[in-house]
Amino acid sequence: MSYDPDNVFAKILRGELPCKKVHETEHALAFHDINPLTPVHVLVIPKGAYTDFADFTANAGPEEICGFWQAVHDVARMTGVEDSGFRIVANKGADAGQIVFHFHVHVFGGRPVSGSMVRPARD
Ligand code: 5GP
Repeated sequence: MSYDPDNVFAKILRGELPCKKVHETEHALAFHDINPLTPVHVLVIPKGAYTDFADFTANAGPEEICGFWQAVHDVARMTGVEDSGFRIVANKGADAGQIVFHFHVHVFGGRPVSGSMVRPARD
């Protein structure tokens, strides 16, 4: 899949759509999810144009990858969930339910999130 520069996260990165910013670094932007599923539900996105986890991991440079994951850790610390615990999720593709095709990681926390967040598989 090619990257669509008009996806909503690209528009947020360009300042064309608003967001509730949590954190910004050279390599990443973090903001509250518009439809939070947990008390802390923050999305972390790289500044580069990557459709999903596989595209990012295959094509981003080592500094981008390292800077991105450091920003994810920053968000856990800054939102106060580092000690209580948190879950990080990256949906990739249709079966995972990805709806925005700019790579992003969800940071879920602020309440127990240890149960399954997906339906059990059927035969
Ligand atoms: P995924 O692609 O991993 O399934 O999820 C995309 C996430 O982006 C969803 O949790 C959805 O609520 C969130 N989202 C979609 N559009 C916007 C938006 O315009 N602003 C923000 N802050 N979040 C959004």
